[in-house]
Amino acid sequence: MTTLADPVPGGRPGDVERAAALAGELSGRGVHGVVLAYVDTAGVTRVKTVPTARLTAAAAWGVGMSPVFDTFLANDSIVSTDVLGSPDGDLRLYPDLDQLVVLAGQPGWAWAPVDRITQEGAPHPGCGRTVLRRIVREAADHHGLTFRAGIEVEWSVSQGPSGGNFVPATTGPAYSATRQVELSDYTADLLAAFAAQGVEVEQLHPEYAAGQFEVSVGALDPVAAADRSVLVRQTVRAVAARHHLAVSFAPAVFAQGVGNGGHIHLSAWRDGVNLHSGGAGRYGMTKEAESFTAGVLAHLPALTAVTAPSPASYLRLRPSQWAGVFTAWGRETREAAVRVITGMSGVRDQAANLEVKPVDLAANPYLALACLIAVGLDGVTSSAALPEEITGDPARFGAEDAAARGVRRLPTSLDEAVEKFREDATLRDALGPVLADAVIAVRLGESAAVHGLDDERVAAAYRWTY
Ligand code: GLU
Ligand code: MG
Repeated sequence: MTTLADPVPGGRPGDVERAAALAGELSGRGVHGVVLAYVDTAGVTRVKTVPTARLTAAAAWGVGMSPVFDTFLANDSIVSTDVLGSPDGDLRLYPDLDQLVVLAGQPGWAWAPVDRITQEGAPHPGCGRTVLRRIVREAADHHGLTFRAGIEVEWSVSQGPSGGNFVPATTGPAYSATRQVELSDYTADLLAAFAAQGVEVEQLHPEYAAGQFEVSVGALDPVAAADRSVLVRQTVRAVAARHHLAVSFAPAVFAQGVGNGGHIHLSAWRDGVNLHSGGAGRYGMTKEAESFTAGVLAHLPALTAVTAPSPASYLRLRPSQWAGVFTAWGRETREAAVRVITGMSGVRDQAANLEVKPVDLAANPYLALACLIAVGLDGVTSSAALPEEITGDPARFGAEDAAARGVRRLPTSLDEAVEKFREDATLRDALGPVLADAVIAVRLGESAAVHGLDDERVAAAYRWTY
């Protein structure tokens, strides 16, 4: 379980001694530096690095970085809110030592996610990881609930170098043995790197789109799951570079066709019991799990501003591409935004969960999980009723049929998603005013940045960003 305590000046209890011991051990293993990573509001992972010998100082006093990155756009231009976006001020990045790993794909480097606090020692309201820790803490304190989460990672592999034209590194069909053989060395090295880093891989497979692959990892507590999503991408990219390959995690590598998703799996637990299994509701869900699912569905259009935050996200969010663009749920239904997974008979008490599909890897995983948990809890608090399930592709429903079933199309543009987000007090409260305003400002900035571009140019603008 990730520590839910905020960092404090001087370091979290025990961290300084631990960092000193770790620094010695890392140096002994040939590690020269530690990458300190967080994800900004736009979904870009920003980093600082310190030499290994500075890890102890970082654990005690943090590492400086401007708060201006909270209103950076993906193209590195800057927007502002009432509070954020000015050149003033500084924040301290505190590594979470529990999550520090030696990077197998980048010899000489270790990696750790960070929380950000002010120089006065207060949590930074723009820090997504801090917000997620707060939401997880509140869920435990007020509802007695804990969560397990996993984020799938899809990516498209091109012949290198990164930043050039996308030339698929495979030619074989989707899910095919041909593709597996074509990138045999790369994917074997990838599995080795994950294993060396303690990343539990459930499966890795060639996906649908050109050059596309996917990895699924084991479920963890929500903060660790978000950290892992960042680490997985760092690893996928680093190992690819060693094979002279380039990878794109963009929601849409091209304007047409299947995109890269970042589906989130989530389950709620009480006293060690999975609420999505063994209950009296549908497919073994407890009433609470049904209400949690109903809460997710009710808020999904607004949530899209967080889970699909890029103009390119809306090139991916199209019907009949398994991206889940309708507010509907179904058991193992891959066109519903929420896929209810019961798991195999025999392991359901462990395996049952929800898969939320309209999420991509432009999303800040901390914010996405924080918001998902918040809206699910809103459903639990109001004992929200779960609508009827759907089967098949909701795209085939006529308007009347869809309305009768409560099936809504998710926003088709970032601007539309922002309007829904603005109206959603649950989401804004979950993020807090500073971050909620940053989300709105950054999304509107992204939208303005691509104004007038055709779809192919929008895809190109974000192809190598995330
Ligand atoms: N690539 C699809 C997406 O954009 C997902 C395919 C799958 O279900 O694995 O979300
Ligand atoms: Mg997939």
